[in-house]
Amino acid sequence: MDEKKLRKQLIRITVITVVSCLVLCLVGVFLLQYVMQAVHESAHEQMRIETQEYKERILKQIDKNIQILTTFAKAYEVSSIANDKDQLEQSLTATNSANDFISMLYIWKDGHGVMSTATYGNRSEITLEDCDPYAIDVIEMAFEGNNGISKMFGSDVYGEKLFVYAVPVYQNGKVVGALAASDTLEIFTDIANGKAVMGGAGYINLINSEGRILVRSQNTLIKEDVNTIYDGSYLTEKTKEQTRLALSKQESVLGEFRYEGTRCHYYLEPLGMNGWYLFCANTVWGAHLALGGVLVITGVVVLLVLLVVNGLLYAGYRQFRKAVRALIRIAYQDQVTGAENTIRFNQRFNEISSQHKNYSTVAMNVHNFKGINDLFGQDRGDKVLCYLKEMIEGMLKTGEFFCRDTADLFYILLLDNDEQLVQKRMQKIIDHISRVSLDYGEYSYELSTYCGIAICGDRERALLAMQSIQNSHQKSIAFYNHVLHDEVRRKNSIESHMYAALQNKEFKLFLQPKFNLKTDALVGAEALVRWQNPDGSFRMPGEFIPLFEKNGFCLKLDMYMVERVCKQIRMWMDVGITPAPISINQSKLLFSDLNYPENVSQILAKYHVPPSLITLEILESVATENFEQINKQIEALHEKGFRISMDDFGSGYSSLNMFYQLDIDELKLDRGFLRKVSEEELVKRQAIVEQVVVFAKKFGIATVAEGVETQEDRDFVKRLNFDFVQGYFYDRPIAAAEFSRKYMNFEQGV
Ligand code: C2E
Ligand code: MG
Ligand code: MG
Repeated sequence: MDEKKLRKQLIRITVITVVSCLVLCLVGVFLLQYVMQAVHESAHEQMRIETQEYKERILKQIDKNIQILTTFAKAYEVSSIANDKDQLEQSLTATNSANDFISMLYIWKDGHGVMSTATYGNRSEITLEDCDPYAIDVIEMAFEGNNGISKMFGSDVYGEKLFVYAVPVYQNGKVVGALAASDTLEIFTDIANGKAVMGGAGYINLINSEGRILVRSQNTLIKEDVNTIYDGSYLTEKTKEQTRLALSKQESVLGEFRYEGTRCHYYLEPLGMNGWYLFCANTVWGAHLALGGVLVITGVVVLLVLLVVNGLLYAGYRQFRKAVRALIRIAYQDQVTGAENTIRFNQRFNEISSQHKNYSTVAMNVHNFKGINDLFGQDRGDKVLCYLKEMIEGMLKTGEFFCRDTADLFYILLLDNDEQLVQKRMQKIIDHISRVSLDYGEYSYELSTYCGIAICGDRERALLAMQSIQNSHQKSIAFYNHVLHDEVRRKNSIESHMYAALQNKEFKLFLQPKFNLKTDALVGAEALVRWQNPDGSFRMPGEFIPLFEKNGFCLKLDMYMVERVCKQIRMWMDVGITPAPISINQSKLLFSDLNYPENVSQILAKYHVPPSLITLEILESVATENFEQINKQIEALHEKGFRISMDDFGSGYSSLNMFYQLDIDELKLDRGFLRKVSEEELVKRQAIVEQVVVFAKKFGIATVAEGVETQEDRDFVKRLNFDFVQGYFYDRPIAAAEFSRKYMNFEQGV
């Protein structure tokens, strides 16, 4: 996962969390509002129902009393009681005591009447004028044939507020009088206190249309002694105004007020008589508010928790991002130059190649970077790498990228696939880089780079192309092609088969005879390996030895060849044949193995072969690399009794001082010396080789000329005074058995 993807994911998580938090909060707010509204409405409804209930009970009570009076009025109509004062008095007294009225009276239409009171006994005589004006009102209403209930009035006699019911009394279809009864308001008080309003949280008062409190509930919230609902400051002016208006229209009112910090709501329901109202108030709203408060606090806490969670998430995200960045830096960055590494390069490459874009992959290397490191030190070497990184970076187009693999190997991806254009661009980069030279004392070292390009190809192909010119200073740019590819396949095939081949004894011993140049007598042979494929065909050493030198397999193969040679010598010795001394080619890798002298002599010991019969051939290039170490190995090998020959002398940078620096027994002149050259060159060559032979003789070193193919070659080397000779002119390398037959008069070979 790269940083971009990670960031995307983190942003997505954060957005989801934030959005869900917001949604949660919004849902919470709506839910809260909904719950509060529902609670509010249900409280109102509850209040309305309860008030209605009270209203019904009051009206029922009044109706019951009117019914009682009406029943007696009917009785007076059909009897003569109303005409007899005494009978009337008795009847009133009996009715009154049976129905708990304060007083009962009968008034004839002429204004005279009879009254019976529960407390003070009967007053037989009464006139309409003696009555309270409110009572007179309803009695007169009864004279007109209507039932009525008076407004309240204070009674001096009873010291409390009373009201009066009155019904008409008929005789022969005409109103002859009115039957009335007075009652106190205790009935309302009873009702108001009879039941806990709103579960104890509320109370009910009876008021008139002016807002005057007629019956006050003992349960009232308002502590002050108020006469009207407008007294005190618990109703706002606006509410008061609205209430007054509603009362004047005999409409019901729903409202709110706040008393001593408690929020209440109230409801006014008209009783439908005398302008009376039931005033119901409760603090349920306050309780609801408390519930609302809890909900709000819960909501705020949840919000805070969510905020904290989000904050933590964000802080975590930042920390995580920092850590991821650091990790990505480690995972995707080259620590030396700060460029991207191959892991990142591959990721980006896969993206580009999957989009089928036009691109080219370039592998770039510095000539002899190891030398720079050795000469200038690793720090300078690192600086060179940083410089290369800067150079490459500065010459890329948008969308192009590069990485440092290992050491001085850089890979570049260019978004071009035209061979000429890509070559031009790379040449420009190479030229730019070469402008820098490293100073070393009075010398300066010019940076030179080379590269391999794979048009629309991958790193592997670019690397192959680059490796194809790594040893050439003439060419700095190479393109990948199929030949290179085949070469790799061949290499892979060899490497995958080599172990099995050794096991199956597919490596065969061939021998090429060596002769005394003067006497033409056989003086020995050189062991040369041939790889026989299962189909019988042979692979020549040139096809696989260089590869084995690189991959280390030569160490095994050379020891195997020593063993084959020893076996062959043993065969000859076992049948009493004087064996020919044999030279065996040895890989340079062996010379850095300190156990090598011991290992090789153990093989000889196994076959009881005297080491004097074995000459170990080392390549001239080995000797040029590390004189001291090679000399030590040569010394150790000499101690074991081996002879040492220097092969391919003159093919590299050998110098004559090798003679006295290396303790060798034989020198084999590279066959390249015998190849055709110009006359002038030949003269020079002859002079050099002549000197070599003179020197060799002086140091007691035997000289062998190899690759002698013609009589001319033979004469040439003879003139130069070589000791021994080897070449097609005499014989080719042949299988050990054939050599045995041909030169040792023995049928068997390994
Ligand atoms: P070398 O040791 O210099 O061997 C001489 C090479 O010259 C042999 O090639 C031989 O066949 C070839 N040769 C001999 N006479 C003539 C001639 O008159 N004309 C021409 N053109 N060539 C001639 P070969 O057998 O192909 O071996 C090539 C190289 O492979 C050897 O060069 C040696 O360096 C290496 N080699 C061969 N066998 C072994 C081995 O067992 N171990 C190691 N480490 N290297 C081996
Ligand atoms: Mg050789
Ligand atoms: Mg040679």
